[in-house]
Amino acid sequence: MARTGLNEEFPKIEEKLNYTDKDKYLTFRELLRSSSFVFFFVVHLIALAVFFVRFRWSFLLLALVSYCVRMLAITAGYHRYFSHRSFRTGRLFQFFLACLGCSACQKGVLWWASWHRHHHRYADTEQDVHSPYYGGFWWSHLGWFLFSDKHVAIQWHLIPDLVVYKELLWLEEHHYLPGTILALISYLMGGFGGFVWIFCLSTVILWHATFTVNSLCHLYGYQNFLCEYHESCNAKNNILLAILTLGEGWHNNHHSFMGSSRQGLEWWEIDFCYYFIRIMSILGLVDSFRVPSCEQIEARKLRSKSTSGTLYTVG
Ligand SMILES: [Zn+2]
Ligand SMILES: [Zn+2]
Repeated sequence: MARTGLNEEFPKIEEKLNYTDKDKYLTFRELLRSSSFVFFFVVHLIALAVFFVRFRWSFLLLALVSYCVRMLAITAGYHRYFSHRSFRTGRLFQFFLACLGCSACQKGVLWWASWHRHHHRYADTEQDVHSPYYGGFWWSHLGWFLFSDKHVAIQWHLIPDLVVYKELLWLEEHHYLPGTILALISYLMGGFGGFVWIFCLSTVILWHATFTVNSLCHLYGYQNFLCEYHESCNAKNNILLAILTLGEGWHNNHHSFMGSSRQGLEWWEIDFCYYFIRIMSILGLVDSFRVPSCEQIEARKLRSKSTSGTLYTVG
């Protein structure tokens, strides 16, 4: 059943991250000691072996399945459910979604959701952890979590609704397990070639596709609305990124209705993740998904237009 109320957002909390450009980046030595960096680098390196192992159509197909399933786990699970609570589900399926999301190797769900909520609160202001306008493209794409140790800690105060689940706390400590299991399965299915295609290559593409939402989606595309928290927020709608991320590219819509399960608001704004949520709802796995009503969308459009003459721009 759909809910149209969009007021049940997470609590408003004011805070400041204090760092200067000087202490923003790790030194080369520190990078080599960072397990996240070493893992990220090694998976990229092994993915390049795709040019040297024997090609099989089954590898390509399984790599695509591995990509799509994990992208849906990130978009529907990590993002729309855990970060924004845009629908409801039972505790067992919640844990399943968290495990599946972990297999995308983007750290634990509590870390992900806490920093994502932080991003919404400060989008494209000086306090935003990954604004391309304050740190540049590469900083917003991967620098903020890869080259800095300022964002390693979970922002516990931003996820009071999630820390009550003991199984999520356990999974956070062991977030590398689902990814390791997937890597093993891919090796058992196809040897080294299977490992390269199904795990490494699909993970690398999945990473960069997800990161484009923080980088490119705040730079290129069109806007329908002024964003919910900040007029300075430059989130854009981008059809190419929406296809690549199975629906996350409607980022201007999302920053405007962040509690909504549906991000593609026009009929032509394809949102595979929302269709997936609807299917899960028909199967009885989730309910009470939130979507804005036509009146809410029109009212927000009018308000945005009257506040700014610069909307509906491209680029
Ligand atoms: Zn954003
Ligand atoms: Zn979001």
